[in-house]
Amino acid sequence: MTRLLHRDDPYLLEFDARVVARREHEGRPAVVLDRTAFYAESGGQPWDTGTLDGVPVVAVLEHGGEVLHVLGGPLASEAVQGRVDAERRRDHMQQHHGQHLLSRAFMETASAATVSFHLGADVSTIDLDRPVTEDAVRQAETRCNGIVWEARPVRTSVLPRSQAEVLGVRAADDVGDAVRVVEAEGYDAQACGGTHPHRTSEVGVVLVLGHERYKSGSRVRFVCGERAVAAFRARASALNQVGALLSSPLEDLPASVARLQEKLVETTRRGREMAERALRGEAARLLGAAGSPAVVAAVYEGWPADDLRALAQHLVGGGTCVALLASRAEKVHLVFAQSEGLPHDVPALLRQALAEIGGRGGGRGNLAQGGSDSAAGLEAALARAERTVRERSAA
Ligand SMILES: [Zn+2]
Repeated sequence: MTRLLHRDDPYLLEFDARVVARREHEGRPAVVLDRTAFYAESGGQPWDTGTLDGVPVVAVLEHGGEVLHVLGGPLASEAVQGRVDAERRRDHMQQHHGQHLLSRAFMETASAATVSFHLGADVSTIDLDRPVTEDAVRQAETRCNGIVWEARPVRTSVLPRSQAEVLGVRAADDVGDAVRVVEAEGYDAQACGGTHPHRTSEVGVVLVLGHERYKSGSRVRFVCGERAVAAFRARASALNQVGALLSSPLEDLPASVARLQEKLVETTRRGREMAERALRGEAARLLGAAGSPAVVAAVYEGWPADDLRALAQHLVGGGTCVALLASRAEKVHLVFAQSEGLPHDVPALLRQALAEIGGRGGGRGNLAQGGSDSAAGLEAALARAERTVRERSAA
């Protein structure tokens, strides 16, 4: 059994130990030590990283009753010096203790119990057993920060189960009769094997980034301590950039964006109206220039398929005609259509034209469309389709 030094002293970052077993984990060397200050991933808290005699410790796992230190390279010595990454440890202490306080605060402000939590690489989450309102979330956050700034002592003790239960602590059955209890004085007590600071103030600050409905409850995303500062910094920087783009002071940003959005809606509406007018004009021009029977064949440069289809609909709706339209954009688009009552097999005409330019498409009745990656032979294919229509019309 490895002696877990972090249980007694979560601030211990350097220690001496002996290698008692050598293993392999997923192709990497791993060692079991007689004592360790490395926290193995468990109970929602990720593992510590660091070094053993300078060799990187890339993962620490509880595996078959052992604490495996998975190494980034070979480790020859028997007596080793361990060094735990201080920043990562402090970060985990801030997130994990912040989670304890936040879970308690949600019980207080919303009677919402924590079903599970996850300390993520960027953001941590708490899943609550019921939906919570924005108000309740902010109340919990405020309460939590109050407890943090009161700098209450945090005590860790191992108690008999019955005594832990008196404190309102419920521990899983597999914990046995000796329950490790982490207690923020006068506020919260939980069964936990994690690394916690000596005072709540070390959490720094608790910031809820957002919350959403999750299963039958809520998922709350939060960050604590240095992560909260980093998250605030990133958001402030993004907002400042948006403010500069809109030449708007920060406090006016919502109104500025709302105005911009209104303008965009109006501009889009006007744009659509103008395009519609232009398409109608183009249809009238083509129909005026077409002879009888009216067959319109035209190739446009860079038109999107939607515009081509709209033009075809204006043509066949505005007169009695056959429209054979194409556009050379990133791809080649083809739209063939005829007015109600005309006798041509429009899908067959399109298939024939597409076969000539190596494209794909189809349709039914009076409208067919398709496309091709290549424009080679497009004019000839369109001319052949026009000839077919004219011959059929003359017959
Ligand atoms: Zn915990």
